[in-house]
Amino acid sequence: MIRPILIHPDPRLKKVCDPVTEITPDLRKLAEDMLDTMYDAPGVGLAAPQVGVTKRLLVMDCVKGPDLPQRPMVLFNPSVTWASEDLNTYEEGCLSIPDQYADVERPARVRVAWTGIDGLPQEEEFEGLWATCVQHEIDHLNGKLFIDYLGPLKRQMITRKMEKLKRERARG
Ligand SMILES: [Zn+2]
Repeated sequence: MIRPILIHPDPRLKKVCDPVTEITPDLRKLAEDMLDTMYDAPGVGLAAPQVGVTKRLLVMDCVKGPDLPQRPMVLFNPSVTWASEDLNTYEEGCLSIPDQYADVERPARVRVAWTGIDGLPQEEEFEGLWATCVQHEIDHLNGKLFIDYLGPLKRQMITRKMEKLKRERARG
């Protein structure tokens, strides 16, 4: 089931999300819905607060190319346990900030620990787009957006565009 994606600015996108203490059937259904919503958008990552649920859960699939098999990933309570000193710059976007893109510099490689949808602990090192994506999505769980890395003028410009977009959408 596809869920509506919140558009910035929204107070739920600024909250530090709560840890997941138990992976209930409702949360497993939420994860499935988030994957459906992400693929439909289309996007490579989605965090629970973006669909209005302020819990520490994200989904992602950074496999590129229609001929490659999908790799849907569900991460509960993800945390970065190691980050490389070398950095990488990607032009990032966000499903909660449609059609706006900007360069963001982040560690090129990160090791992330999380709880899988089966409740088991997992850890993996990510690089390339996967590394950028997982850091961007973990930021969401801490109430942080990619535009928070930009200068105040650029950030305000984008926020005003989003306020206008939301007014237009509300009018239908
Ligand atoms: Zn985002």
